[in-house]
Amino acid sequence: MNLKSFIRDVPDFPKPGIIFKDITPLLGDAEALRYAIKLLADRYRPMRIAKVAGIESRGFIFAAALACELGCGMVPIRKAGKLPYKTIRETYELEYGTDTIEIHADAVARGQRVVLLDDVIATGGTLAASTRLLQGLGAEVVEVACIIELTFLHGRDKLGPMPFHSLIAY
Ligand code: AMP
Repeated sequence: MNLKSFIRDVPDFPKPGIIFKDITPLLGDAEALRYAIKLLADRYRPMRIAKVAGIESRGFIFAAALACELGCGMVPIRKAGKLPYKTIRETYELEYGTDTIEIHADAVARGQRVVLLDDVIATGGTLAASTRLLQGLGAEVVEVACIIELTFLHGRDKLGPMPFHSLIAY
């Protein structure tokens, strides 16, 4: 199955000059969705994963499906101000300005093995900050993964020595 054929390029969204990688054709196809989750599940099943962490909002979709497949829990990492309970936060640099993400302070236990998942890695800032959140709670981030990697932005460099895996590369 060629997963790339289920990713739609949408030029100039959300602003001029950005080519948005739209995953909705992949989500809308039963076989493609099942295959993407199966690839991830086959990779992480032997790794004794305790939690799959997903990043708001498209990361949630894949993280929840993967967690179900692995038989473990799912942890949401959200934009600031959305999580209701006690949180810790990380602020990171964007091209213009900063962004802040949060995780519930009790979302993972010290030493728990976590896979961190998002739909797209662009500059890597979001996944790097999310990794710091999880590590700040004492989790062992086993690997950072995403469906789509925009290799020309070198986002994985921002993750340092952290193991990284993507299903589709551009
Ligand atoms: P970054 O922190 O730069 O790696 O940005 C990652 C976040 O922005 C991810 O959660 C993506 O959903 C989103 N994103 C960035 N660039 C794109 C793109 N070209 N197409 C789709 N989503 C994108």
